[in-house]
Amino acid sequence: MYFENKLSFAQQLDQQDPLARFRDDFHLIQKDGQAMVYLCGNSLGLQPKSAKDAIDQELKDWAELGVEGHFDGKNPWMYYHHFLTEKAAHIVGARPSEVVIMNNLTANLHLMMVSFYRPTATRYKIMMEVSAFPSDMYAMETQARFHGLNPEDAIIELKPREGEYTLRTEDILAQIEANKDSLAIVMMGGVNYYTGQAFDMKTITDAAHKVGAMAGFDLAHAAGNLYLQLHDWDVDFAVWCTYKYLNSGPGGTSGVFVHERHGNNPDLVRFAGWWGHDEKERFLMKKGFKPMEGAAGWQLSNAQIFPMAIHKASLEIFYQAGFINLVNKSQILTSYLEFILEGFKEHLTVITPSDPRARGCQLSIIVKKDGRKLFDFLQSKHILPDWREPDVIRMSPVPLYNSFEDVYRVGEALTEYYKTN
Ligand SMILES: *Cc1c(COP(=O)(O)O)cnc(C)c1O
Repeated sequence: MYFENKLSFAQQLDQQDPLARFRDDFHLIQKDGQAMVYLCGNSLGLQPKSAKDAIDQELKDWAELGVEGHFDGKNPWMYYHHFLTEKAAHIVGARPSEVVIMNNLTANLHLMMVSFYRPTATRYKIMMEVSAFPSDMYAMETQARFHGLNPEDAIIELKPREGEYTLRTEDILAQIEANKDSLAIVMMGGVNYYTGQAFDMKTITDAAHKVGAMAGFDLAHAAGNLYLQLHDWDVDFAVWCTYKYLNSGPGGTSGVFVHERHGNNPDLVRFAGWWGHDEKERFLMKKGFKPMEGAAGWQLSNAQIFPMAIHKASLEIFYQAGFINLVNKSQILTSYLEFILEGFKEHLTVITPSDPRARGCQLSIIVKKDGRKLFDFLQSKHILPDWREPDVIRMSPVPLYNSFEDVYRVGEALTEYYKTN
């Protein structure tokens, strides 16, 4: 695509963008009476304006109906997860029965590992990317210990080649093959939080299955960002949070995908709670767990209505915009940011792959000198990227609320900074 580093060019792209109107559906962060260029959607998505009404509705039903809200509320709490599954499933490329919204991300990751990591004496290894998000490292480490294994031995970390920042698919496949007799599960991010690299989940899943291992993904940075086809890719399970690209509020609820070939297997080992029990019999309060069909059979507790209400409102915006439209815009918007950053390559190295199939909207930038100083300068110019130790600035132009002009403003600030630095 042809780009220009000019305000008029960026504004023209915004005028032609059929999704531009969705920016108005969000509260943009204001500082000194000016809207910030918010590039942290990878960390915490902006607040949809509809979130407040969604919460107010549930507060109202609670105030007016008390416990009767479970059945008589506008959105009866008893069935709340059903209101979310269809739209959430669409975002991850799943069938509605394969998805459930519940709990928080790390809790769900553990629940999935309980079911899908069943180590034996010979097949017990977990493969993950090196420098995964810390919660995932700790989860895998303690899962290994839970089964009496030594994490040093049980966990295989995939490392980039010397001098490279990201993983090559061929190297991941070679590692799977090299561990074909001992590998129990591949559990990786869909997009690495630090480098912004999106992994080829279909190819990795196929390779894991070929050697008799499971494949699960943490989609924290992928859900609402990448085009996903979890069902068709034959992924065994996946988990994600909803507060990053899915704009559902700090600490918000989480999503789980369980492929239908597992979801309908009542014998699969799991840690259960009453909300996963067959809905028709749940209130008979009887002994003997009988799971709901599909991912819903992993629910533990009655629904957390307030975070789910925000998620419901947020999913509605994705539905209106059309997820595929968002992905298409995202690729152009991020390519525009890449083009702008190219102009500063003497100072900045983008470590995120340039192949649009190997990334979402995030670009991770290593600043060759004084990264923190540049970061502070950008903030002073009303631009809000995020900083990750030791030396990376992450910028994520999000198609729902970022504009081409936002991206242009980044270049404008960089030009000013590098005049004197
Ligand atoms: C954001 C993120 C988390 C956070 O986990 P919570 O349980 O929501 O606190 C975990 N893993 C990855 C890969 C993340 O990006």
